[in-house]
Amino acid sequence: MPIATVNPATGETLKTFDALGPEETERRLAAAAAAFRTYRTTPFAERARLMERAAALLDEDRDDVARTVTTEMGKPLAAARAEAAKCAKAMRWYAARAEDLLADERPPEDEVRDAGAAHARVHYRPLGVILAVMPWNFPLWQVVRFAAPALMAGNVGLLKHASNVPQTALYLEDLFRRAGFPEGCFQTLLVGSGDVETILRDPRVAAATLTGSEGAGRAVAAVAGDEVKKTVLELGGSDPYVVMPSADLDRAVATAVTARVQNNGQSCIAAKRFIVHTDVYDAFTERFTERMAALTVGDPMAEGTDVGPLATERGRADLEELVDDAVRRGATALCGGRRPGAPPELTRGWYYEPTVLTGITPAMRIHREEAFGPVAALYRADGLDEALDLANDSPFGLSSNVWTRDEDEQRRFVRDLEAGGVYFNGMTASHPALPFGGVKRSGYGRELSGHGIREFCNVTTVWHG
Ligand code: NDP
Repeated sequence: MPIATVNPATGETLKTFDALGPEETERRLAAAAAAFRTYRTTPFAERARLMERAAALLDEDRDDVARTVTTEMGKPLAAARAEAAKCAKAMRWYAARAEDLLADERPPEDEVRDAGAAHARVHYRPLGVILAVMPWNFPLWQVVRFAAPALMAGNVGLLKHASNVPQTALYLEDLFRRAGFPEGCFQTLLVGSGDVETILRDPRVAAATLTGSEGAGRAVAAVAGDEVKKTVLELGGSDPYVVMPSADLDRAVATAVTARVQNNGQSCIAAKRFIVHTDVYDAFTERFTERMAALTVGDPMAEGTDVGPLATERGRADLEELVDDAVRRGATALCGGRRPGAPPELTRGWYYEPTVLTGITPAMRIHREEAFGPVAALYRADGLDEALDLANDSPFGLSSNVWTRDEDEQRRFVRDLEAGGVYFNGMTASHPALPFGGVKRSGYGRELSGHGIREFCNVTTVWHG
C-alpha cells in the first residue's frame, strides 16, 4: 500500500510520501533508545507538564487537524473535531493520574513477613521503546490512547501508522515535539507494513501494541512471540446489540443507529449484530430501518452529513462482497445494500448506503466476519437464552450492548456474554477511566485506565531482608 493521502470523498491522490529507508529508520531507532535512557527518570510532574502542553496545543489545532483527518479518511468533520477533543481529554486524564496509578503497592504486613522480608513493595518501571502499529479509523485517538499512558509511564514511542493517514501521523510527531518532549520520545516512522517485522525484532524495541485487523495482529504477535516481547492487541469486533422487551424502544432505536454508523460504520466497537427479542422485533425493525434509510450520506466536510465515504476503495469492496454474499444466500436488504447511484459527486467517492439486512444465517460470511461500514445485521431471538447464544456465536469478543431494565437479565448478561465490555441501555464508547479491550479474536490486553498504563511496565518486586 503506498504511503499517501487519497481523499475518499473523491478518490483523488493529494500527496504521496517516500517510505523511510534503512538508514533513516536506524537513526530513529537509535534516537528512541537514547531518549529512553534519560526520559525514563524524568519526574512525573515534568511528564505531566509536557502532556498538558500537548493537550493545549491539540485544542488550539483542533479545526485544522480535524480537516486533515477528514481529508485522509473521510469521517464527518464534526466527528473529527470531537476525536481531537477526546484526545486532549485523555492526555489531561493521564497527566493528572499517572503518578497515582503507578504508585508503589505495599502488600499486607503479615504477608511481607511470611515472604521473609522486613519490607516489600511492588514498583512500576517503564519498559522502554514501544512500537505502536495503528489504524486509520480513529487516526488521532488510537495513537493517543497508546501514547498518553506510555509517555506518562516513562516509555518512549515509535508510531507506524496506517499508510493512508501519513499527514495525521506526522502531525502527531510534531505535536509531541512542540509540546517539549525530548528528541526521540515520540517519533513517526513512515514505513510500510512489510518493514514492521525488522523494526520489531530490533533489540532496542521492547514491546508492541497493535490496533487493526486480525491478520495484522496475528502477524505482529507471531514476530513478538518469537522475540519474547510483550504485545497488546486490539483487533476487530462484531459487537452484539441486544434489545429485550423491557427496553426503552425509542432510545434503543435512536442509539442503535448511532452505534452502527458512527465513524461511517468503521469502528471496532460499533454495534454490528442487532439481536432483537421477538416481542419487540417488528417494532424495532420498522423504526430502525426508517431511521437508517433517512440518514444523510454525503461530503464529510459538509455540515449535516451523517455518513461519509468509506476510508479506502478496498474497504468498500470488502463490505460490498460481504453484503452480496449475504443476499446471494437469502438475506434481505430492508434498505441500502448498494452504492448510491446519484448525485454524481457521490459516485466518485467510496460511498455506501446505510444498510439493514435480515434473514441472516450462519452460512453467510457476515455472520462471522466484521462488517466495517454502515451495514447492520438483524437477528430475531425467542428469549434470553437464544439472544445470549447468538451474541456469543462470533469469533470476536470486544464489547457488547444490551437494552434491558430487568436486573435478573442484566446479571445473566454480565455473567455469560463473551466480551471485554457489557454496556446496558446505551452504546459502547471508550473513556480514559474505563479499561478497553477484548477476548477471543478481538485481542488481549487492555488499554486506558490503570490497566492500560500498567501494560507496558516492568512490575518490579522490591524485597528488603
Ligand atoms: P490493517 O489491520 O491492515 O491495518 C492496521 C495497521 O496494521 C496499519 O498500520 C497497517 O499498515 C498495519 N499492518 C497491516 N498488515 C500488517 C502486517 N502483516 N504486519 C505489520 N503491520 C501490518 O487494517 P485495514 O486498513 O487493511 O482494514 C482491514 C480490516 O481490518 C477492516 O475491514 C476491519 O475489519 C479491520 N480493522 C479494525 C480496526 C479496529 O479498530 N480494530 C481498525 C482498522 C481495521 P499499512 O496501512 O501500511 O498496511
